[in-house]
Amino acid sequence: MDNMKEELIAPCGMNCNVCSSYLAYLNDTKGKGIGIPYCAGCRPRDKKCAFLKKRCSLLMDGKVEYCYQCPDCPCDNLKHVDKRYQTLYRMSLIDNLEYIKQNGIEALLTRENEKWRCPECGEAICCHNGICFSCGIERLRSKKKLFRWEDE
Ligand code: SF4
Ligand code: SF4
Ligand SMILES: [Zn+2]
Repeated sequence: MDNMKEELIAPCGMNCNVCSSYLAYLNDTKGKGIGIPYCAGCRPRDKKCAFLKKRCSLLMDGKVEYCYQCPDCPCDNLKHVDKRYQTLYRMSLIDNLEYIKQNGIEALLTRENEKWRCPECGEAICCHNGICFSCGIERLRSKKKLFRWEDE
């Protein structure tokens, strides 16, 4: 798979390509009995993601393309979201930003393609629960906690 889209790397470093809401939208999971809201991605839908955009005028006004261009990076809000993502969702937004800054966006997309590739079908697995929304629909349907990797 080499289908991660550059426009789906959000300004905060989040990879919308592996977000549950984007994958639900992409795979039309509502029609398959899964109640995850749809989102077309931070940049394409140009709305306030639950995370940082609505709390930051630089992002709201499109003044920075990526947070690493901001003099306050990483701000407290970004650090807060990053910690949550590192703890629960196996992703660091700050590390993604640093990687783009050092190596460029293409290199990040290559790294992300490898990191999130489904071993069964080659599509992306979701950072919010580790499931592939392409070949793992049955697993998704029986999952108790949709936004955790483990059900416990
Ligand atoms: S909900 Fe947020 S992280 Fe998920 S695809 Fe939409 S903008 Fe991206
Ligand atoms: S790092 Fe800068 S641009 Fe990004 S959310 Fe924080 S204040 Fe806004
Ligand atoms: Zn798969």
